[in-house]
Amino acid sequence: MIPPGSTLGILGGGQLGRMTALAAARLGYSCHVFAPEPDSPAFAVARHTCASYEDRAALEAFADSVSVVTLEFENVPVAALEILARRVRVRPDATVLAVTQDRLAEKRFLEARGFPLARYRDVRSREDAGRALAELGDRGVLKTTRLGYDGRGQRIVASPGEAAEAFAALGGGPQVLETFVTFEREISVVTARRADGARASYPPVENRHEHHILRTTLAPAPIAPALAREAVALAEAIAEALGVVGLLAVEMFVTGESGLLVNELAPRPHNSGHWTLDACPVSQFEQLVRAICDLPLGDPTPFAAAVMDNLLGEEVHAWPRLLAEPGARLHLYGKREVRPGRKMGHVTRLFPLAGGLTR
Ligand code: AMP
Repeated sequence: MIPPGSTLGILGGGQLGRMTALAAARLGYSCHVFAPEPDSPAFAVARHTCASYEDRAALEAFADSVSVVTLEFENVPVAALEILARRVRVRPDATVLAVTQDRLAEKRFLEARGFPLARYRDVRSREDAGRALAELGDRGVLKTTRLGYDGRGQRIVASPGEAAEAFAALGGGPQVLETFVTFEREISVVTARRADGARASYPPVENRHEHHILRTTLAPAPIAPALAREAVALAEAIAEALGVVGLLAVEMFVTGESGLLVNELAPRPHNSGHWTLDACPVSQFEQLVRAICDLPLGDPTPFAAAVMDNLLGEEVHAWPRLLAEPGARLHLYGKREVRPGRKMGHVTRLFPLAGGLTR
């Protein structure tokens, strides 16, 4: 057990790291954040090292200053985790990262274990892209296997010619083509797992995207209880199969024909779990701290329903109005530069648990 008073290491300095450090502080831990960007939002609330993930000496000094390392961003080079793992516990470990930072590896992992996902093809060339679309159907989504987020690195394609063009426009590197899923809704489950296999899951939430960026989360998702149980069981089974210690967020499509299809995994706190800060006894960030420190996992049962809206780009300027709104819970990430679509903060509004979620 890693007791309160210890120092936790966090790789990545974004808002997820910032909110993890704040939750850790509440339990009496200190955090040391490692990130390459000088203006990282998490730097304002924790001790930090600003260095490249390739800087071995900086990584080793970081490892020696903490009791355990976790991450808030899955695109950290696996080699960096391996350097750290020689000196300190890393949770989740490099094998989890290797699967979840590569869409193709992730899909193969899920497929090999019988988890449901949309049909896909490995794409390495323009010809592959055109052929894959012809095989999979009328419409598909071409995605880079690495470094895609918030809709970056993906294109919807509707003809083999378009698929070939999109392959080049996405940089011509390794890609996957998925069938376009006509879903009823998108949901996600955040589950926590400790090294001894103990687990706790938040209820599924519904996520609404705009331009591939999360706009709104409705919690809990307005879905049938049996489907909610199925989604939680699926997320827990994937976390177990991966051997995650920490958090795993599982994004899924709800479809009429095929039921649940797994879209994407993230082995870290997730934007769709921000509502837990205001509507659950223990937030996803505190749950991460508990899981990596071998503490008892907290109760994930919400005491209120919640609607979480991201504040994207200029929307953050609404903060005075949001502060004045009774019941609105405002979270700002301290990012100085406002860019279109950039996640600047979020606001959560609570509602009685039964009903009220038809927005
Ligand atoms: P991703 O980066 O894979 O999470 O994709 C971002 C968003 O794009 C998803 O949340 C969906 O709204 C949409 N999307 C991604 N893949 C597909 C797909 N195969 N079919 C339909 N929509 C998709």
